[in-house]
Amino acid sequence: MLSCFLWIFSFTISFTAYSISQMSQHAANGPPITNTDDAIFYDPERVFAPSSLDDIRGLIHKARKNGHKVRPLGSGHSWNTMAVSDDIYISLYNYRGLVNVDTDRKQITVRGGTRLWELNRYASKYGLAMTILPSITNQTIGGAIATGTHGSGIKYGSLSSFVVELELITGTGKILTLKRNDTRLFDAAGVSLGLLGIITKVTLQCEEAFNLLEVRHTYSLQHCLDQYKDIVGSSQYVKFWIEFNSKACAVYTVNRTTEEPRNRPPQPLSDILTVILELFQLFFSVFPSTANTGMKLLFKYADVLPNQIRTDYSFNVLPIPNYIDEYHTEAEFAVPYDDCSRAISDVLRVKDEHNIPLNHIIEVRFVKGDSFWLSNEYQRDNCHVTLLLHNPSDYYTRLYFNTYYQIVLKYGGRPHWGKVLAMSPDEARRLYPKLDEFIEVYRKLDPDRIFANDLLESILGV
Ligand SMILES: Cc1cc2nc3c(=O)[nH]c(=O)nc-3n(C[C@H](O)[C@H](O)[C@H](O)COP(=O)(O)OP(=O)(O)OC[C@H]3O[C@@H](n4cnc5c(N)ncnc54)[C@H](O)[C@@H]3O)c2cc1C
Repeated sequence: MLSCFLWIFSFTISFTAYSISQMSQHAANGPPITNTDDAIFYDPERVFAPSSLDDIRGLIHKARKNGHKVRPLGSGHSWNTMAVSDDIYISLYNYRGLVNVDTDRKQITVRGGTRLWELNRYASKYGLAMTILPSITNQTIGGAIATGTHGSGIKYGSLSSFVVELELITGTGKILTLKRNDTRLFDAAGVSLGLLGIITKVTLQCEEAFNLLEVRHTYSLQHCLDQYKDIVGSSQYVKFWIEFNSKACAVYTVNRTTEEPRNRPPQPLSDILTVILELFQLFFSVFPSTANTGMKLLFKYADVLPNQIRTDYSFNVLPIPNYIDEYHTEAEFAVPYDDCSRAISDVLRVKDEHNIPLNHIIEVRFVKGDSFWLSNEYQRDNCHVTLLLHNPSDYYTRLYFNTYYQIVLKYGGRPHWGKVLAMSPDEARRLYPKLDEFIEVYRKLDPDRIFANDLLESILGV
């Protein structure tokens, strides 16, 4: 028993050392070399990181002249090959930072390569804050907008819906500035998968800095499924984490408060917690058969952990503290808000009937509809059902995605553009009624199709 424990312990420590070396790759100065789970490689020899608009345009002109393909590269935090280029990458790693703050309008303008955590710092310095944020803040603002990245709160749209003005460099090297009232082009460009151009500058609508009170309670899954509309309607931001083995549902409700930050874990404790969670994740990903039991135990004892209630600055509460973005894969589907409970029940029924692997949690979030042609939220409020998977071998990732995609398709489920992704252009056309208009705009802005790649061709037929 003791030797078994020691073996697991030493294995975990060595794996941690390995993971830290991997993480240092992501954290290293320079554009990403791989995506989040190291499944995709961005060849550094072909990555260019210009620091001026002229240089970006110069690269586009050159690529066009030489018949080369180009993909914009953000921070590589996507689980699919949408950022992969046959020829060159344009990373905005060196094209980031604050451009302007308009405190009267509460608007902030940043360069396209600015990370969300940097954006939060700039905003906070001027007494402002973003209204919504995703679970992590390592993404670039350009990448986040390109894929329709969102948070959770049915009264709030995705980050794209907070964009007031957007600067793009098109496939012909032209600089295009789009404002909210340029309806057609703006609606096309709000979520554009890096096809309409490289997003170089973004003005975002912020609000006055605010604090949030987060409360976490665990209910039965059935309670969440039956009452989700009441729960979601009762708070400004709500998300569910479902542990399907014990049929438990952790509900996070978050509301604005005038209280000062409290119940923050003290720094050393927070660091230790991060390491412990990291070790759990590592263990589950190496021994996925233990993940189900592990998640069950974590949920069982979650309520005895500290921080069931906490107050903090909005940018500390909206993303997940201590988020470990390695060692798992996500598939996420946006289903109409009204179908939320039915879709989740179907997913769980099929899991039980066919023993399809699910060994992490299901996260459920809520996002308001918008008018962007390729947005998951196009003309409808959605419930986002995210299926997390430890140990994402290619075989299981595909099986898992395809199975659950077929289930949610009957509700018009739209897969998240930054996560596991596959569909045919016909399906895409059914899910996005404005797809043909989008392609028309794309062909005008990128007549030589320099921004196309294999994935985008296969799913959209661009
Ligand atoms: C751990 C983790 C947690 C996540 N949490 C959430 C979440 O809470 N909510 C959510 O909605 N999503 C979430 N995502 C998905 C993530 O927000 C998106 O995949 C986002 O696109 C990643 O941004 P990036 O800068 O890494 O872009 P990349 O992954 O580098 O690129 C994504 C796409 O955007 C294009 N692109 C990048 N930069 C630009 C630019 N400047 N101009 C035009 N196109 C560009 C790329 O070509 C590519 O097609 C999460 C991802 C991870 C790994």
